[in-house]
Amino acid sequence: MTAAVTRLIGRTTADPKQLPSSDAIRLIDVTKTYSSGDSTVAALQSVSLRVPRGSFLAVMGRSGSGKSTLLHCAAGLDVPTTGTVMIGDTTVSGLNETRRTVVRRQHVGFIFQSYNLIPSLTIEDNITLPLRLAGTKPDHSWLATIVERVGISGHLRRMPSELSGGQQQRAAIARALSGRPEVIFGDEPTGALDLSTATDVLELLRDLVSEFGQTVVMVTHDPLAASYADDTVVMLDGRIDQVLRSPDAAQLAAVLGGYHR
Ligand code: ADP
Ligand code: MG
Repeated sequence: MTAAVTRLIGRTTADPKQLPSSDAIRLIDVTKTYSSGDSTVAALQSVSLRVPRGSFLAVMGRSGSGKSTLLHCAAGLDVPTTGTVMIGDTTVSGLNETRRTVVRRQHVGFIFQSYNLIPSLTIEDNITLPLRLAGTKPDHSWLATIVERVGISGHLRRMPSELSGGQQQRAAIARALSGRPEVIFGDEPTGALDLSTATDVLELLRDLVSEFGQTVVMVTHDPLAASYADDTVVMLDGRIDQVLRSPDAAQLAAVLGGYHR
């Protein structure tokens, strides 16, 4: 086990309730098994991971390696078959769907490849939707800050269809930030964007980590995208196979090449 893996995994025997709260996300020995008919798929096998607050983690690995399952379990969208998931100081893996939804609305933001803005709502109403769903009072000064920071203050009254892909993803990032979440999760958030727009969005995510101490976890198959993160974990057959610390795009491409042979 490399030092980086040990650092990320930590002591898997520790009592989660005793852990310091410096981690935005913590997975301890998480397993996820899907059964359909006679066959079972071990989508995650004994995955342990810590994501420190204010860090940017990329998750890579070939198709079917368990990236989305990892993301869904870490975000409280899905429950592991066994193991513990903590979002900040809250253990979400033991909660029922209703309680998990409450935790998710208060502590997690999401960005998607296809932006997922509601077409019938203005950009402003899209951005504040998570607050309405969570029943949280909007913090107008924070909203003004993030709208300005992501660069869409001139588009608040527009409908999503009136914006370019890059502008829509920026609006989606503002929406994800609106409730000051513990962590923002993205599944291929730049997958639908051209290179130059994708680069802008990745620089924005990087800056949010550096400027606001935002924690970001992003699944990507693109070495260039992952190079904006701090650490990258590479999944293989439902396990964390490698942890790379601050790799550049060339290193990532070389490592990833090894998984596609
Ligand atoms: P990735 O995102 O890396 O492509 P996934 O996490 O989507 O991988 O899937 C990991 C494994 O779990 C794959 O073998 C996939 O077929 C399986 N899997 C994922 N979701 C389900 C599901 N809802 N039902 C059955 N099998 C699933
Ligand atoms: Mg996936």
